[in-house]
Amino acid sequence: MSKGSSGMEVILASLEVSRGRRVSVFVSKGGTGILFQILISASKELPPSEELMLQLHSLLAKVGPKDRKFGVKARLSGALNATVNVTKQNLQNTKLLLPCLQVLRVYSTNSVNAISLGKNGVVELMFKIVAPYSKKNTTLLKVALDALGALLKSKTNARRAVDGGHVHVLLALYQDWHHNDARHRHMLIRKGLLVCLRNITNIKLGRKAFIDTDGMRILYNSSTECLPVRTLDPLVNTSSLIMRKCFPKNRLPLPTIKSAFHYQLPHVPAAGPVAQLYSQPPGVDDVVDESDDNEETDADTENDTENEEDDKDQGAANDDIETDLNKLHPKNNPGRPFEELRVYERFFLELSEDFQVTLSPKHVPIMSCQEDCSLTKGEHTVHSPSVPTTAPLTPLELDTILLTKDRDRKGEEVGRGGKQEGSPVNATRHIQSPLLLGGIATRRVGGGGGGGGSNWGSDCGSEGAEDEAGEGAVLEVPDTMVKGTRSVPQYAEVAYPDYFGHIAPTFKEPLQERVYGVQRSKIFQDIERLIHPNDIVDKVVYDLDIPSCPVIEDNGESLKFNSQFESGNLRKAVQIRKYEYDLVLNSDINSNHYHQWFYFEVSGMRVGTNYRFNIINSEKSNSQFNYGMQVLMYSVQDAISGRPRWVRTGTDICYYKNHFARSSIAAGGQKGKSYYTMTFSTSFSHKDDVCYFAYHYPYTYSTLKMHLSKLEALRTPQIYLRQDVLCQTLGGNSCPLLTITAMPESNSNDYICQFRNRPLIFLSARVHPGETNASWVMKGTLEFLMGTSPLAASLREAYIFKIVPMLNPDGVVNGNHRCSLSGEDLNRQWQNPNPELHPTIYHTKSLLQYLAHIQRAPLVFCDYHGHSRKKNVFMYGCSVKETVWQSNISATSSDLQEDLGYRALPKILSQIAPAFSMASCSFVVERSKESTARVVVWREIGVQRSYTMESTLCGCDQGKYKGLQIGTRELEEMGAQFCVALLRLKRLTGMRNHQHLLDLESDIIGTQSKVVSPTTYVMEEDEPSFLEAIDYSAESNDEDAEPENEHGGGVQENPNHLDQLSDGETNHRD
Ligand SMILES: [Zn+2]
Repeated sequence: MSKGSSGMEVILASLEVSRGRRVSVFVSKGGTGILFQILISASKELPPSEELMLQLHSLLAKVGPKDRKFGVKARLSGALNATVNVTKQNLQNTKLLLPCLQVLRVYSTNSVNAISLGKNGVVELMFKIVAPYSKKNTTLLKVALDALGALLKSKTNARRAVDGGHVHVLLALYQDWHHNDARHRHMLIRKGLLVCLRNITNIKLGRKAFIDTDGMRILYNSSTECLPVRTLDPLVNTSSLIMRKCFPKNRLPLPTIKSAFHYQLPHVPAAGPVAQLYSQPPGVDDVVDESDDNEETDADTENDTENEEDDKDQGAANDDIETDLNKLHPKNNPGRPFEELRVYERFFLELSEDFQVTLSPKHVPIMSCQEDCSLTKGEHTVHSPSVPTTAPLTPLELDTILLTKDRDRKGEEVGRGGKQEGSPVNATRHIQSPLLLGGIATRRVGGGGGGGGSNWGSDCGSEGAEDEAGEGAVLEVPDTMVKGTRSVPQYAEVAYPDYFGHIAPTFKEPLQERVYGVQRSKIFQDIERLIHPNDIVDKVVYDLDIPSCPVIEDNGESLKFNSQFESGNLRKAVQIRKYEYDLVLNSDINSNHYHQWFYFEVSGMRVGTNYRFNIINSEKSNSQFNYGMQVLMYSVQDAISGRPRWVRTGTDICYYKNHFARSSIAAGGQKGKSYYTMTFSTSFSHKDDVCYFAYHYPYTYSTLKMHLSKLEALRTPQIYLRQDVLCQTLGGNSCPLLTITAMPESNSNDYICQFRNRPLIFLSARVHPGETNASWVMKGTLEFLMGTSPLAASLREAYIFKIVPMLNPDGVVNGNHRCSLSGEDLNRQWQNPNPELHPTIYHTKSLLQYLAHIQRAPLVFCDYHGHSRKKNVFMYGCSVKETVWQSNISATSSDLQEDLGYRALPKILSQIAPAFSMASCSFVVERSKESTARVVVWREIGVQRSYTMESTLCGCDQGKYKGLQIGTRELEEMGAQFCVALLRLKRLTGMRNHQHLLDLESDIIGTQSKVVSPTTYVMEEDEPSFLEAIDYSAESNDEDAEPENEHGGGVQENPNHLDQLSDGETNHRD
């Protein structure tokens, strides 16, 4: 008997007493190393003592999981081989084999060890133990599978397994267990086999072997059989993950991923993605590339860190914080000579010295329509606001069409039997209603059109509408709507929602509860395309890439699609099954990606049938569609029956990574990426309807023009409202600039002086076309500012408002998601906007530079946006102090002198606006945002209160609207509350004592503890985890959702492995 043995028994016995603590103490005192030394010397004895080996390995199996450096220590001491040798020599000796396997299992979790063990034949050894199928020693089997699973994480080992023909072995074994384990007692073994397959299929060779050995069908069939048993979910989920990974990558059914519409830029930027796009040789297939092939060129990237990956993530998250103190200090330097800026004087007539209030007894007519309804209420009015710079807008009221009128028309028409030819074509353009004409969905604008003096439907009391409605059958769209709006595809149609408008429904629209298993069942339906290819129709029913014939005619078996109208975005529709369609979105013009926004029309539907729609080329890695958001639907039949509105709709909604390969050309050079599918199902309730679906409540440029003319109608003599054209866009649309304030009470010097010296508030919206919610918030702001309430009056007296309600009209008109016609994100151009390529940004920035020059920089600047991945409404601002706090840079206290005023406005908003959430606000300056409006206006113009206000596309999880999806009513209310907050801000800034600032300080200190999510980057995703493990990344190597606790929770050395299961990536920008 060796001396070690009795000592060993003592140690063993003492560790036996209490499990956790003593083992930890043992490890911390260096016990592991001693055990390895004993093991080495014991293995030199010939033959080694079986009993000692048993005791040693039992002990190591216990200690291993508690020692984070166990694997490294084992390798360095030479213990790896000792254990391998004992294992090889005792394959039949189950008593000794079990602890050896348990120790090997721990060794294998270190990736360097895994390779070394693989070289020593341990992979083959494990296969010998697990195959063929036998229920003899299941405990042993389970441990061997665990070890094998860990070994196969190494690509070298996975390759070894493929070369040895073991994919087939694993699949056969899995089938054996599936059939023989009728009472599901051996879930863990079945799971262990799947984990091995999962790890092998991380390499391309493995995926190929899986497909070649009929893996798809085997896993599909077994999973289908498992589906009814909820406890088997882990098997179904892992199978689904493997199948998705192995699903052959398809190409998008497109000739090119470049936008279907071409717009030639006046000049191409020297570098960047647009330059790249233009330099691409013609005829290059950009839809797919070699994406998938390079993945294995980098060998195993071995590291010896025992899975300490979490620290790395932390570092990456903070990378984006600005740490250059020079850049953090606003430089009050307007940058351009005043001579250049002087031309902008004309946009600030209210500030000029020679501004005169013209006292006249009569109101000066500006536009024929408004004049009728804006009765002269006071004596004072001005000429200035109606200077010729006013945009050539004509009033048009689509928002509140008198529906009784429409109903009457419908009645008339029915009686008439759909006459369409005889309708008068005069100054008003005509469109045909498909509803009135028995389901014909075309309504091209006909006729030449006249001078645009139409006033159809205006609530200003014009009788024109009724006159022109004489022919009944025709929906008339005034010239301005089509003629004044220039689109690259030269749209001649007006979508019905633009025509009928939208009146927010009064019922509540709760966030949709996610039903367990929806994603999985959708993915299974996708996999069935491969398993049962004969069930697939695969018929193109709409295709913008066929110029002459975009709408494919049909015998009534398919839905009809259309998106050739303002803000429309649908490139192609493919019928997949009888009631299922794949939809492909168009890229932003002059780009080959940015698809997320959608807006299209559907007709030819069957009532009561459930249709499934899949948008197959979404790009963001996660979406609020996974967290309760529904799509928007508009029914023209409903509109005609007096309910013109967008409503939230759709069931079985989810968003997941699909099997369509994304070209690295469109993914910023990243290879091997896939697109995402956004799927929803819905049914239709009216026959012969025309319905629209959209990502969010549409708000077109034409709608804006119509709303602006409606604003004119709200003007009273007390209100100073001026509409200028700031500039023309690349596409030839005009960019409106509004000035709103109160008229001075009289021409007396004091009043004029007060008028001129009011602080300025500068607002903008809709730089990102897909963020339509920003326009609805802006609508709320504008209507509040033009309102008759005493608050509105005080607000106008307090400030001069300068507003650019739509910074990117071209993007909006052409159905872009994010860019302008230049193919660039305009909110990344503020540092150096190009007057030709980014005119709206260039001139808006110039206005601000002009103001800075004349010492009139605005008190508040705010750019309205929408956020696709968070709930509520919140703000981003800029603070040196908070940026420094959240980074590790050292700064002197003088660097941190900062007025806390930037917090006041969001703080007020959180008190008065129900949708607003202070907790989601951030005041950190990020490097990636250095060319956004917020940061540039703060840094270059010197506006301390410079913000981005982000409104959710989805809904709220706090406050009065908790649990509800956001609607236009709430968005407009937000815009109004923003105004109210500005009034409170006025009072606060006027206060002498600074108690309120002290309150703010204590607020900040209060929030200091939770700076775990420091930047807007990290804050993007803040959803709680859901009980169904949503897997967005089929290619990930993440551990599975359920911890395997069979052996006291031992194997995973990374205690935080559950954290890695969070939903997808965090790095995403908006
Ligand atoms: Zn945005």
